[in-house]
Order: sequence, then C-alpha cells, then structure tokens
Amino acid sequence: MEIRELPIDDYEKVVVAKDPESQLHALIAVHDTTLGPALGGMRMWPYKSEEAALTDVLRLSKGMTFKSAIAHTGLGGGKSVIIGDPKTIKSEKLYRAMGRFIDHLGGLYITAEDVNTSIEDLEIVRQETRYVTGLSRASGSSGNPSPYTARGCVLGIQKCVERAFDGDSVSGKHIVLQGVGAVGSIMARELRELGAHLSIYDMNVERAEQLAKELDAEILHDDDVLSADCDVLAPCALGAILNDETIPALRCKVIAGCANNQLATLEHGDLVRQRGILYAPDYVINAGGIINVAVELMPGGYDEAKSLERVRRIPDALEEIFELSEREHISTAEAAHRRALEILAEGRREHVTN
Ligand code: NAD
Repeated sequence: MEIRELPIDDYEKVVVAKDPESQLHALIAVHDTTLGPALGGMRMWPYKSEEAALTDVLRLSKGMTFKSAIAHTGLGGGKSVIIGDPKTIKSEKLYRAMGRFIDHLGGLYITAEDVNTSIEDLEIVRQETRYVTGLSRASGSSGNPSPYTARGCVLGIQKCVERAFDGDSVSGKHIVLQGVGAVGSIMARELRELGAHLSIYDMNVERAEQLAKELDAEILHDDDVLSADCDVLAPCALGAILNDETIPALRCKVIAGCANNQLATLEHGDLVRQRGILYAPDYVINAGGIINVAVELMPGGYDEAKSLERVRRIPDALEEIFELSEREHISTAEAAHRRALEILAEGRREHVTN
C-alpha cells in the first residue's frame, strides 16, 4: 500500500492511500486533536476524482471538530472517505486494507459508520485495527447511534418551541419532517407521542406512506415540503437545503432537524435570522450519535445511562447558543461557530499550561 501525506493548512494530518491489490483508494483527514483523538465516520462514495474526495473529507472532518467541541465529547475531528461505487468495490480485502491504513495512524484517527458503510463492514476493519467504534452492542460497543441522535433532536425541538412560542410545548404544534429514515422515523414517533401534528415527506414513498398511516400524519410533496406552513421544519434527509432559493419561501417559526450541513453556507444563517426564524445549528442538535459513540471510549467503556445523561444536555448547549446569538445580534449558526472556536481555544490554552 502506498501512503502519501498531503500538507494542508489548518489540518493536522491528511493522508491518501492507494492499494492496487484491494482497489483501495482512500483519504483520512485529521482536522484537530486539541480535545482528543479525531473521531469521524468512514464514508464510501463514487467521487469523480481524488480532488473531489479531498474537498469532502476536509469539510466533513472540520465539521466533526466543531460538533465534538460543542458536545464536550473529549474528542477531536476527523473523517475518512473511500473512493468508489459501493455496489461494486466492497470486499473483505478492501476493508482489511482500510483497517491497516487507519491503524498506521496509531489512534490519531478513530473511525465509525457513515454513508454507505455498515456495522458489518466495520467488523472487517476491526480485524486490522482497534481504532473502530460503533460496533454491535453484543461486542460491548455502543451500537446504532440513530436513536440517540433522534433523542437529542426531539429534546432540541422542545427547547426551540419553548423559546419561539413563549414557553409552549410541542403538543398541538405542526411539525414537518423532510426525510423519515433511521433518525427521522424515530423522531416522528417520539414527537407524535408528545402530541405534535405531523406532516412528512420522504423520497422513499412507501416508507413515508407506512409511517403516515401509523402516526396519522399528512403526506407532503417534494415541492411543498420546505415551503409548508408549519411551526417547526425538521430537515432529516439532505444537506444544503437552506439556500438562496428556499429561504425566502420558508413559512415556519423554527428549523430544527438531524440533517448535517443544512445551511448552504454560514452566511445563509443570517438570511434565516432576518426572516425571524429560529434555527437550531445542525451539529449542535444532532450530536446525540457522536455523544453515544464517545461514551464507548471513556474509562469503563460503554454505558447507556451515561450516554443518555449527556444527550439530555443538548438543550442547554442550544440555549447557550441562542443567548449568544441574541446578545451579539448574530445568527445562531455564527454563534455556534464562535462557541466552538472558543472551546477549542480554551483546550489549546489548557495544553500549554499543563
Ligand atoms: P437515512 O439514510 O436512514 O435516512 C434518510 C432518509 O431521507 C431516507 O428515508 C431517504 O429516503 C430520505 N431522503 C433522501 N433524500 C431525500 C429528499 N431529497 N427528500 C426527502 N427525503 C429524502 O439517514 P439517517 O441516518 O436517518 O440520517 C439523516 C440525516 O441525519 C443525514 O443528513 C445524516 O447525515 C444526519 N445525521 C445522522 C446521524 C445518525 O445517527 N444516523 C447523526 C447525525 C447526523
């Protein structure tokens, strides 16, 4: 296997591996380890070029640094991407090679599940390196993160509703979910239980129909979902849905959902604020999954009670950001960004004094 290091400003380490025997062509980006080893998922995607994969791994690893900082997981940010079509390149040889690639960093980067990789794939990686998290509960690991992500998002939505509607609860509120997959479907069930009235859209029509029937929810069309007249819009599918085109058409009071990278750019947070909409920064509200995985790495190993106790702090983290946004007259996205940078700066100062 040939491993090359790419010098990238502001990133601690970025490496690319090519292994002709297994067809592995992958990159690992370690963005920042000030607060602990860099944890982030392993994504497989048919990138058009190594450059496109590099852009993605840099963006994603930096996002993980910010998410972990605000959630106080004691971890840094990293990510890995494997270039290739998941339908054709998956093999035991490939995942074993990926395991060796991760292992050569000696624990600087710890991996987990992500788009197009499964627990089964990680089990193979685990045969070559111990720096793998989120394996099955049966093996003493933290298992599927989605229920914890969903829990944190529901608690976060409650906090947002309380703030935007003068102390109201979600009971009787109209909540629109875009995407009801692993996380969105759990959120929908929990929100229904709390008395919310739901409208949903999922490109998987069958999935949406089944859930709508179960929860007495209305089904929306793709074109209507982001402009639906509602109390809370919960983006739970794709990124970059808050952009120049969609923001002027929004008819909600709150945006709070699990999807990553909801704002096309940080500046779109200002446009959302100008519309008088309360936006829960995605990496703050959706940190339940990373919090759950991080508990696995603590002394004593995985403990669900400890994880839930930490997930319950997500509303406090949101509150802190909402306060900062109000005080400084900045968007909540900008406030989260500033708060994450502050936590990292505090971490760096502690390193210097210790
Ligand atoms: P998932 O793949 O299980 O679900 C996504 C759902 O969105 C699917 O049902 C899919 O059909 C639907 N979808 C895709 N494109 C759509 C579109 N254009 N319009 C409507 N629906 C569409 O994924 P998930 O694990 O539920 O994650 C959802 C989002 O939350 C992703 O952005 C993910 O990165 C983010 N996230 C997930 C976790 C986690 O613990 N799983 C943690 C943090 C963030």
